[in-house]
Amino acid sequence: MLKTWEGYLEPFQIFGNLYFVGNRFVSSHIIDTGEGLVLLDSNHPECLYMVTEGMRKLGLDPANITHILHSHGHFDHIGGTRALVEMYGCKTIIGREDVPYVTGEVDLTWAKELGYDAYIQTFCPDIVLDDGDVFTIGNTTFRAVSTPGHTPGTMSYFFNVQDGDTVYTAAMFGGAGMNSMKLAFLNKYGLPHSLRENFPLSLEKVKDEQVDILIGNHPGDVDTAGKWAQIQAGEPNPFIDTTALTRRLAYIRKQYDDMIASGE
Ligand SMILES: [Zn+2]
Repeated sequence: MLKTWEGYLEPFQIFGNLYFVGNRFVSSHIIDTGEGLVLLDSNHPECLYMVTEGMRKLGLDPANITHILHSHGHFDHIGGTRALVEMYGCKTIIGREDVPYVTGEVDLTWAKELGYDAYIQTFCPDIVLDDGDVFTIGNTTFRAVSTPGHTPGTMSYFFNVQDGDTVYTAAMFGGAGMNSMKLAFLNKYGLPHSLRENFPLSLEKVKDEQVDILIGNHPGDVDTAGKWAQIQAGEPNPFIDTTALTRRLAYIRKQYDDMIASGE
């Protein structure tokens, strides 16, 4: 099995001011707001160099990251944050219910499950989001929609991206892995079963959103690598796809139904 740092993926421009700087396992994205860079998820700590080197390769200076936005408080999405905060003074943003995860108040970052002794690179979020919060950084307005299940504070994001005069709505569903909704995990950490039972409501909540570009929480969610290959081959940008969210939600629902049916 590949180590996390062996999962190199070429960084690339998805569309206009939106870039992929993650790896094969976990997504990290940059939104260039014209007044600083927003990093959406900071990846595993040992993969932070891939994020920053990937940015440099694209001509983006990591020192210009003004904000780190987090989809949820799991180790593979928050692991690089503390180092970036200390290096560059970035402001950090996360959903309210996941704040105790990243401050270390509770031991729920999935660090142990991912092979670490503990989560120690804690940080104190500067901006805490609630359902429906809208905030603007530079030329980009983000809307946070609470979609709990994978974690209580999982946030899905909707935001404008632009290339010249062309503006699209981009989105990320904030977390859909069934791993943290299985009964064994919930019981182990004393988490309420309502997290799992109410997850279909999170899918329902965003199903009518109009989205032009869906990005993945993990690259496999939207076949990020395959789409990059298509772009390189000169095909029309496959990220621009107004049906992607609907298909993604249907896939997640199937995963969920399979989990429920299995009794796990
Ligand atoms: Zn997660």
